[in-house]
Amino acid sequence: NAFELLGLAPELVRAVADLGYTQPTQVQSMVIPKAIRQEHQADERYADLMVSSQTGSGKTAAFLLPVLHTLLQQQDARAEAERLAFEKETAEALAAGKPAPKRAKRKDPTNPRNFKAATPGALVLCPTRELAQQVAHDAIDLVRHCRGLRIANVVGGMPYQLQIARLQNADLVVATPGRLLDLQRSQQLKLDQVQFLVVDEADRMLDLGFSDDLAEVNQLTSQRDQTMMFSATFAPRIQQLALRVMHDGGKHVQ
Ligand code: AMP
Repeated sequence: NAFELLGLAPELVRAVADLGYTQPTQVQSMVIPKAIRQEHQADERYADLMVSSQTGSGKTAAFLLPVLHTLLQQQDARAEAERLAFEKETAEALAAGKPAPKRAKRKDPTNPRNFKAATPGALVLCPTRELAQQVAHDAIDLVRHCRGLRIANVVGGMPYQLQIARLQNADLVVATPGRLLDLQRSQQLKLDQVQFLVVDEADRMLDLGFSDDLAEVNQLTSQRDQTMMFSATFAPRIQQLALRVMHDGGKHVQ
């Protein structure tokens, strides 16, 4: 499968194969290798990208795949570090003639006593509820072989309780700006751990009056490592937005 050549994790390559994708589309071949950090450039920072692309071009997978790839790598690294720490602790206990330690039990996230604000590592912003739902749906398809990567959808017009429950352990949140900021203000959600921010259909986002909301999310996630902005057009006002939200105004792809 040609997706392997782009440097993606095997779990994601399997998922695209399941979906019947055999060749990356043009926007996918351009964006994916630029957006992920390849092994030989592990100490470089992630590239900020500004991408012109139409609906139907495969743009959704072009931003979801690299973000999921990096989240997956980080999750694997964390699990490996935990495993090594546990092994070391066990060896030390046994050497000291003490009983081996037990693995910590996972806390039940549905118990209100265990409530913590959600702290996703990645955020995709979409202008409409329909688009956000479609993107979340695509993300869920792509993580089918990734144990432990969780996707949450945050959009207006749906019951808060349901969204908050899904949000608790979410790694990637796909949201419309209004509901996202509602949940942030009510402290259900913190955005200071967001490393990857994607703005999908940036031109529609501005048409629909989300400029101030974007500025707020930009500030709340100011420590992020990567920003990708997708837009059908690159009118001057989109370029201004890019200048505001991206390092060096972003690298323009396509
Ligand atoms: P999008 O532009 O992201 O809305 O994607 C348009 C459609 O193309 C969606 O139905 C995707 O499932 C499909 N698609 C995305 N990437 C590929 C690919 N590499 N090969 C075949 N179909 C794809």
